[in-house]
Amino acid sequence: MIFLKTEDEIELMRAANQLVAATLAEVCKAVQPGVTTAQLDRLAEEFIRDHGAEPTFKGFPNPYGGPFPGSICASVNEIVVHGVPSEEIVLHDGDIISVDCGTLLNGFNGDSCYTFQVGEVSTDVKNLLRTTKESLYKGIETAVAGHRIGDIGYAVQTHCEAQGYGVVREFVGHGIGREMHEDPQVPNYGKRGQGKQIKNGLCIAIEPMITMGTHEVYMMPDKWSIKTRDGKPAAHFEHTIAIHHGKPDILSSFEEIERIEATRGQTIS
Ligand code: MG
Ligand code: MG
Repeated sequence: MIFLKTEDEIELMRAANQLVAATLAEVCKAVQPGVTTAQLDRLAEEFIRDHGAEPTFKGFPNPYGGPFPGSICASVNEIVVHGVPSEEIVLHDGDIISVDCGTLLNGFNGDSCYTFQVGEVSTDVKNLLRTTKESLYKGIETAVAGHRIGDIGYAVQTHCEAQGYGVVREFVGHGIGREMHEDPQVPNYGKRGQGKQIKNGLCIAIEPMITMGTHEVYMMPDKWSIKTRDGKPAAHFEHTIAIHHGKPDILSSFEEIERIEATRGQTIS
């Protein structure tokens, strides 16, 4: 069942998502060679709790194993999503790390993800990041009242596949509100004019997960981390949006992250 949000609820969603944006910016500041993903996780958890919210991911149940131990998913290089923060995983120059973060604030959820560059990454990897991020905005642009969910996936898929990249099928975007995952599912692939109609008050997380090679993935023995079958890198960018006055209203934000990237010469778009 899809829960359309009122104006007041959209503003609560915006607050939760702005906190995610601020948390991701804090993490961005700390991303550098030598840092462990566990350090980034602690920093994020403390920041979220200091702002009166709960890290939604912490303790998230898993049908295949134990609950998620972290407050962020920290997915390095060929890990697509759901990377478990670890003292053993140290960032190196040239790595990329997708940091996905969720907050629960005043009863509503925020959810956003950004793939950060560690030091200087190769041109090939930078192109993957650019295309994935562009595809997120192509998807968002199509999310207007009267269109259908399939239009979003079509926009993401055609943009990424035109560059020869893979679109992960097993994980998708989603409705979001009082629950982190609500109906409808929002795949990053699809056909124009298919799926549920997009209406005012719909809140969804759009999150392209794009690979440099094959779109095939598998689950690691930790029962969380999802890796590309061919070991090539993957990128993941996510915004939570509301359909507001017929148009997409981005509730999360990359503004602060982009400002930090610019100071490091890491601008990707
Ligand atoms: Mg997310
Ligand atoms: Mg999500």
